[in-house]
Amino acid sequence: MSQQWVFDYIVIGTGPAGAVMAKTLTDDKKTSVLAGENHDKDRPIRDSTFALELEERFFPQYFWQGEGVPQKGLDERSFEWTTGRLAGGGSSINGEQYVRPTSDVLREWQKLLGDLWSSRR
Ligand SMILES: Cc1cc2nc3c(=O)[nH]c(=O)nc-3n(C[C@H](O)[C@H](O)[C@H](O)COP(=O)(O)OP(=O)(O)OC[C@H]3O[C@@H](n4cnc5c(N)ncnc54)[C@H](O)[C@@H]3O)c2cc1C
Repeated sequence: MSQQWVFDYIVIGTGPAGAVMAKTLTDDKKTSVLAGENHDKDRPIRDSTFALELEERFFPQYFWQGEGVPQKGLDERSFEWTTGRLAGGGSSINGEQYVRPTSDVLREWQKLLGDLWSSRR
């Protein structure tokens, strides 16, 4: 007889957003969540020396690609999009680059969002 699994929640799409949702849902340790296959042990994902050739060699295994919809504000042009087709989504295959905002920008965000957001939290 095959084994049957029952989950309280199923998260479809475990990129950064879905993974945070799955983690939050299971914080109480009583709730169960099915959240997709884990690819952390795949060599091209865990070994950063694959980074430069990942897209060339492992498309479409770890990548989705599609065409966006025409954008009103951009003369109705549409653009291609690419993202991760695996647990961790785009952040499992992305360039890990980030830009830190200046303190002026952080103060602007604080002005806009009031008590909802602070750079010091
Ligand atoms: C090549 C590349 C380089 C990048 N470089 C950077 C960088 O350097 N710095 C940076 O900050 N950001 C970078 N990004 C962007 C960043 O990775 C994304 O903004 C981020 O991953 C988006 O997170 P998300 O959870 O919204 O969606 P995603 O990461 O797209 O996650 C969505 C998840 O849903 C799954 N999914 C989609 N459709 C279905 C379906 N129908 N059924 C089941 N599952 C589905 C996908 O497989 C994926 O796991 C890069 C992205 C790419 C693709």
